[in-house]
Amino acid sequence: MPRPILATIHPEALRHNLARMRQAAPDARVWAVVKANSYGHGIARTYEALRGADGFALLDLQEAEQVRALGWRGPILLLEGVFEPRDLELCSRLGLWHAVHCEEQIAWLAAHKTQVGHRVFLKLNSGMNRLGFTPQGYRTAWMRLNALPQVDEITHMTHFSDADGPRGIAHQLEAFEEVTRDLPGERSLSNSAASLRHASDARVRGDWIRPGIAVYGSAPDFPEHTMVHWDLQPTMTLSSRIIGVQRLQPGDTVGYGSSFTADAPLRIGVVACGYADGYPRHCSTGTPVLVDGVRTRLVGRVSMDMLAVDLSPVPQAGFGSEVTLWGTATNGAVLAIDEVAASAGTLSYELMCALAPRVPVTVGA
Ligand SMILES: *Cc1c(COP(=O)(O)O)cnc(C)c1O
Repeated sequence: MPRPILATIHPEALRHNLARMRQAAPDARVWAVVKANSYGHGIARTYEALRGADGFALLDLQEAEQVRALGWRGPILLLEGVFEPRDLELCSRLGLWHAVHCEEQIAWLAAHKTQVGHRVFLKLNSGMNRLGFTPQGYRTAWMRLNALPQVDEITHMTHFSDADGPRGIAHQLEAFEEVTRDLPGERSLSNSAASLRHASDARVRGDWIRPGIAVYGSAPDFPEHTMVHWDLQPTMTLSSRIIGVQRLQPGDTVGYGSSFTADAPLRIGVVACGYADGYPRHCSTGTPVLVDGVRTRLVGRVSMDMLAVDLSPVPQAGFGSEVTLWGTATNGAVLAIDEVAASAGTLSYELMCALAPRVPVTVGA
């Protein structure tokens, strides 16, 4: 028998969350962001559920080929554009839309031989300082692209650094508006956080929103808001079982480094899940876990293949009991991946993407 650990992907939840994002920006089209293999879920596993999107946004050319091979004829956007000139041949052949964020990409496009006009998303660096043209260079870049026979349509694009936090988006929105005001073309600005928190502003919605993490059921601004607040549902459950039980006496310790000491008699369950499965080693005593759908806590350090949980809230639980590390338990109880990520000092994004290859994945309801 294989180890009992299992990841389950929930297509109904993906559909629900996508519909939620549409509802947040009803007059915009929606890119389902499926980079990093659909945030660790597997593109092939999420594709059916996300076909209701207007397009798929990603950055790996292999992933773009995969989406085409799955049968998608609609728009696909390369969020970082191409990495070398010959990538443009694939864009022409597969009809990929692509970001243009630097001079090099314009020069490659100008030298590219093609019969089909490309749809490009010209990226403004409005303050994030990752990719994009500065406000000073943006209009020149637009003029150059606009004069190229290889270019069909130019969409204006930028990305917010603080849509989820107190600094907000006003300064970047202002820079974007200023630079693009009198230029024709569609606009795309918002990730999940901007779409949910600032979408009452039509300028923020633009023509295309680009939600990623919210589609995967995580609140982009946790802990200020939760997935329940945003009406999102978990799309990935990580579950396992108890493979051993120990009865501790006061003074007994658990695991490497003896980081947890029982101060009273305590039953603990040992779970077949460790950091080699992608469960964060930084989670310490107190991190929430569900056993038989009842909320309890991790005790002691996470080791490579095992972790331990407090069984006192679930006295009937024992060998073989269901453990939900994040997601939805059989009884319907939910443990937000955001809570586990916060315990580890990281984000849900990282946990989803770090699901280890050794964990079997199934597509559930
Ligand atoms: C990843 C990404 C997104 C999606 O961000 P979320 O925070 O997951 O919604 C949107 N736009 C760009 C350019 C991205 O790289």
